[in-house]
Amino acid sequence: MVYCQGCPWACCYCHNPQLQPNAAAVGVAWSEVLELLARRRGLLDAVVFSGGEPTAQPGLAAAMREARALGYRIGLHSAGIYPRRFAEVLPLVDWVGFDAKAPFDAAYERITGVRGSGVAALKSAHALLASGVDCEFRTTWHAGFLSLMELDRLTRTLAELGVRRYALQEFRASGGVAFRPEGAPVAADLDVLKRRFAKFSLRPA
Ligand code: SF4
Repeated sequence: MVYCQGCPWACCYCHNPQLQPNAAAVGVAWSEVLELLARRRGLLDAVVFSGGEPTAQPGLAAAMREARALGYRIGLHSAGIYPRRFAEVLPLVDWVGFDAKAPFDAAYERITGVRGSGVAALKSAHALLASGVDCEFRTTWHAGFLSLMELDRLTRTLAELGVRRYALQEFRASGGVAFRPEGAPVAADLDVLKRRFAKFSLRPA
């Protein structure tokens, strides 16, 4: 896993807030990562670019090409923040884990703190589904920041867009972030969600 520094959003539940600033106090140069990958050829199968938001990196496509040239398969974790760069790297990836945070309207902005974030994410989601790249859409969920009605709306939209694999990740508190504990989906809610996707996973906190 390669954790990329920098993310322009400020999600209320972010687990890696130290990766949000563009510059890091400490970090590893891509050239060093590449040397490590060259040494580990045959021992590792894939490189997953995560973050932060990997598509914030102007050098992402070049880095992916270099890793591919060493024989690695490429994975990408993204919230689809930069639709143009996201679309540019899709031909270079084998798998995408796409973070779908909320219905793609004002609810998105409530989570990310950024106006227009839902529009950007939806554009990237369209590009991903049109590309045919293997992918999983996932949502970090807690009733304290996303109501069951909103979750229902989001998953209905995703199913209509053609998402086949979906994971609901229960929010795991850390770093002083706290939400009200009540409101977990009951079995009936989960059954409704499950029926919307060919593959559904619940990842407990
Ligand atoms: S998009 Fe991801 S990295 Fe960026 S603030 Fe949100 S949770 Fe954190």
